[in-house]
Amino acid sequence: MRKSLIVAALLAAVSCAPKTSVKSPDGRIEISFSLQEGVPCWSVSADGRPVVDASPVGLEAFGVDMAGGYRLLSSTSGKVDETWTQPWGENKTIRDHHSYLTLKLKNGEGVFMCLEFRAFDDGVGLRCSYDAPGDSLRIKDEITRFRFSEDALSWSIPGDFNSYEHLYRRMPLSELTDANTPLTMRRSDGLHLSVHEAALSDFPEMVLRKTSGTGFKADLAPMHWRDSVKAVVPSSFSTPWRTLQIARDAVGLVNSSLILNLNEPCALADVSWIKPMKYIGVWWAMHLGIASWGGDKWHGATTAEAMRYIDFAAENNIQGVLFEGWNDAWKGSDALPDFDFTSPAPDFDVEAVVEYARSKGVEFITHNETGGNVERFEAQLEKSLGWAESLGIHAVKIGYAGGGLRGAVPRHSQMGVRHFQKVVREAAEHHVMVDGHEVIKPTGVRRTWPNFMTRECVRGMEYNGWSGGNPPSHHEILPYTRLLGGPVDYTPGVFDVQYRNIQGLRQVRSWGRPGTGCRVNTTLCKQIANWVVLYSPMQMACDLIDNYEGHPAFGFFRDFDADCDASMALQGEVGEYIAVVRRAGDRYFYGATTDTLSRTLVQPLDFLESGTEYEATVYADAPDASWNDNPYAYSIVRSRVTSRDTLQVYLAPGGGQAISFVPAG
Ligand code: CA
Repeated sequence: MRKSLIVAALLAAVSCAPKTSVKSPDGRIEISFSLQEGVPCWSVSADGRPVVDASPVGLEAFGVDMAGGYRLLSSTSGKVDETWTQPWGENKTIRDHHSYLTLKLKNGEGVFMCLEFRAFDDGVGLRCSYDAPGDSLRIKDEITRFRFSEDALSWSIPGDFNSYEHLYRRMPLSELTDANTPLTMRRSDGLHLSVHEAALSDFPEMVLRKTSGTGFKADLAPMHWRDSVKAVVPSSFSTPWRTLQIARDAVGLVNSSLILNLNEPCALADVSWIKPMKYIGVWWAMHLGIASWGGDKWHGATTAEAMRYIDFAAENNIQGVLFEGWNDAWKGSDALPDFDFTSPAPDFDVEAVVEYARSKGVEFITHNETGGNVERFEAQLEKSLGWAESLGIHAVKIGYAGGGLRGAVPRHSQMGVRHFQKVVREAAEHHVMVDGHEVIKPTGVRRTWPNFMTRECVRGMEYNGWSGGNPPSHHEILPYTRLLGGPVDYTPGVFDVQYRNIQGLRQVRSWGRPGTGCRVNTTLCKQIANWVVLYSPMQMACDLIDNYEGHPAFGFFRDFDADCDASMALQGEVGEYIAVVRRAGDRYFYGATTDTLSRTLVQPLDFLESGTEYEATVYADAPDASWNDNPYAYSIVRSRVTSRDTLQVYLAPGGGQAISFVPAG
């Protein structure tokens, strides 16, 4: 009797003390809560080893103390294991398997804070929800810190609130001063980590800034460049998720669905109109300097050129053509734009082109370049999207080229994020898919708004047209960093990597020109492999179609399906190499690329359906190929394989290999 009373008392004590830590379903990752002088803190361990030491979490506001003075009221915890599907993605079916812990806190100023932890087998997410007195909050700073327990080798771009178009830096965390996210790192014990955020839809972006040693703080983009206010939010609101992906190897980061799992379910009732596609366009000619965006006789997007591209698309199993520079008011590349988003350039008969595209079964992708003039774009948005819908146009590329958004607003500010979100929301009402350039980084919002197909937010192919270009290792960093956030419109696929075929053509551009050291720093086969590796549900073959006409290696893109069902990163190391396979229906597409070192990957084909024989078409670098002095040497070899076979995948320096697997017979 007495013994059972003691047990009952113990149980009561246990249930009264709020739970303050939670483990991932496999028990290997743990996220814990503590209060340090009233400030909520988080810490993480993996396999019993510390990963993040106790670090503050939360926000500071003007006029009310919401950062500290908290006491813990209660906590709730539980597990979720569910599977959901999306209309497109690296994987269309995704398992959301996590444990959660929600801590309720209150401070002396009457601010309620709800701190949510989610622990997955591949990392953790945390976010804060607040309920404060008054109607709105002016956010001063984010106090969240990331005090990494160990130094690690890191890959990142700078913590720039206005652009992601940077080269990656590889350096120890201890030497890093600032970074945008995803910030990826590898510890000496082999643990791979990546910091990012999820569900950024009405808040400024977060970058990381060094505090000391291996410690960083979250830093939010300001509302204006000379403004101390970071965001204005309702007094009851939630932050985006702060995420830490944790994997035992580099490809474990790539194969994680943590970012998507921390986003809200699809907001659209009907997604039947949203379809991945391959596309081509007249864009690369402008970057090569042999055609202009408009305003002169060198204009690239003419009616005649449009018809030629549509014919090529129809003949080559390509679903879309992008007409950059189709509309009025392009006055040369240096002029500030006064764009009109429904009026065509004088030499572009838009109705005839759209009708011709429709007759050929090809999508017309329209282009709205804003030059960062958000007000002008928003004033025309409804009209422009309605116009597109009325013509049967289902896809738009939006761009914000130039120094930033008008009105001294950082692109990645709350206003920028809200604007991009508004465009995507209104586009959905008109059944228009969006490809965003110079927009906010991907944080998995595509789950909620799957018409936000792809985006740039990267130093993409264009830099090879007029700068020192992107180094060979760039493409082996991106899958482990930028692409952890979501699809990239990198626009791969230049076949004429040394611009041999435009020698002698007139240069129409004054602002730098290829030929003075400009080229694409890969082999031909790496361009092909990048169609697989650099995932985008709108995947471009960006070169001039003249360079694809009759080229045997273009067969890969013709066969390639941008609408994959499942993907797997098979092997790789950050900044060194990667091998990825994607399944689309009963076919598989494999891509592998390397930095400046040649490699032979041993690649088991156990990802193939067992018991099925496949015809493998291998697009491989020749043994003497090299990105710098012999980029075009390649072979195409066909063979019959099954899931029991293993291939030796040769990659030349700066090279790649692509393979399509089609069921035989
Ligand atoms: Ca750009």
